[in-house]
Amino acid sequence: MSSFTNEIIRFIDKNFEQLGDISLRIWNFAELPLEEKRSSAILQEYLADNCFDLTIGLAGMDTAFLASWGSGSPVIGLLGEFDALPEMSQHISSEKKPIIEGAPGHACGHNLLGTGMAGAAVAVKELLKKHSLPGTIRFYGCPAEETMYGKIKMDEEHLFDDADICLSWHPKDGNAVSNFIHSAMVSLQFNFKGKAAHAAQSPEHGRSALDAVELMNVGANYLREHMIREARIHYVITNGGGRPNVVPSTAESWYYVRAPYKEQLDELVQRLIDVSRGAALMTGTQVSHEILSGCHNTVLNDSLNRLLYSSMTRIPVPAWSEEELEFAAKLQATVGKDLLREAISSYEITESEGQILHNKVAPLRSRPVFLAASTDVSNVSKTVPTAQVFTCCMPLGTPGHSWQVTASVGSSIGQKGMSYAAKVVADAAMVLFTKPTEVQNAQREFARRQEKISS
Ligand SMILES: [Zn+2]
Repeated sequence: MSSFTNEIIRFIDKNFEQLGDISLRIWNFAELPLEEKRSSAILQEYLADNCFDLTIGLAGMDTAFLASWGSGSPVIGLLGEFDALPEMSQHISSEKKPIIEGAPGHACGHNLLGTGMAGAAVAVKELLKKHSLPGTIRFYGCPAEETMYGKIKMDEEHLFDDADICLSWHPKDGNAVSNFIHSAMVSLQFNFKGKAAHAAQSPEHGRSALDAVELMNVGANYLREHMIREARIHYVITNGGGRPNVVPSTAESWYYVRAPYKEQLDELVQRLIDVSRGAALMTGTQVSHEILSGCHNTVLNDSLNRLLYSSMTRIPVPAWSEEELEFAAKLQATVGKDLLREAISSYEITESEGQILHNKVAPLRSRPVFLAASTDVSNVSKTVPTAQVFTCCMPLGTPGHSWQVTASVGSSIGQKGMSYAAKVVADAAMVLFTKPTEVQNAQREFARRQEKISS
């Protein structure tokens, strides 16, 4: 173990209480995307107190900020999130018990995510300063992950362009380096315009925009048979007319389309637009569409993943107390056995290892796993070499965006998982600051992958 690793472990352990307290305050604020004023402010204050320079308000978002310390290269960015989810309020309890019925809660653990990366940034700064090492450590305060907005806007404003590497983590039910390729996604709206008429008296004069919406949906459902199986199409009707006795002159549907790679997505979206045109032609209506948002697929970086894995295996995983195991077992009992089996297989957990709270690091997997879900971290990963780890902050098998997550990430289990993630990311960042070849390897791999994409 290098002396840096020991120093990082000591620093994060010494600050465990302060970081735990910040994460718990953000957990209590439970602010929705773009409303994270207090959550963003508390992280800003922590970083400013530790001599970081702050730029507050980025890419049109009041709660986005950049905290920076040091000068010159390399520039290593750590990504932090802090938004909550609606209707996920929950006590730190193994029974479903909202603090306020219907209020938001941290069911994705972003209270830990932001705090952990801020802690890692401060740990790295302490070491750079103490050892007079060159380079810049940055913390990106990224709002609105849950609406797939924050990092996409920040990327459009080129805020990641001059970083050499970005690292992050996400609270999960196990310890692993992420080999997930999250899908590329587009959210788009189709607007049909027809002609209103009395539905009984003179239907022949009407051209129904609702018919067009329905026929488009039928067409989209036939399209499913002839698309790659990893792709996804889901929709809702957001305007289906006013009342049955009036032929609807306007109607609207809202689609999400996903595919593992952006190129596959672009092709599928084009076919869906053709389906909408067909529906308009069939019904004598007009159609237009508007792209509301979208994100890229994840671009993995094996060089960074190997680096993170060696930090993960070098640093001891959290030791769970009897109370934590007991609480976790009760929480786990509220979740289906299928999810537990999936988790055990995905982290390659053997019988001798903990099956309630993960107590090992999953082997590094070279093959990527495609996920249907999407994340705005992917947009950072297409701009700058990026990688992330997962650490155990909840019982194995806990489903994402559930009340069980809110309960666990407010407890000491979540705080220990956060502390481990902060150590791992700070340790990997220190390797990047002290071994230029590691930065070059990651950047070379990134360039190779870009070439592949554009060829
Ligand atoms: Zn999340």
